[in-house]
Amino acid sequence: MECAEADCERPAAVELHIPWAANRLVCAPHGRVLGQREGVVVEALPDSGKYLLEDERD
Ligand SMILES: [Zn+2]
Repeated sequence: MECAEADCERPAAVELHIPWAANRLVCAPHGRVLGQREGVVVEALPDSGKYLLEDERD
């Protein structure tokens, strides 16, 4: 499963729970950025550990 953000092909690593929109699955970098918005909850996917460890490369 890929990140829901446009032009992003990294694997989805977290689920964003967004109060004003549908939940979406995004990669770890996008999860970090979008998760800083007020009210958004970031939940790591159960099998995302390896992706979370890899996301510092780019
Ligand atoms: Zn992404």
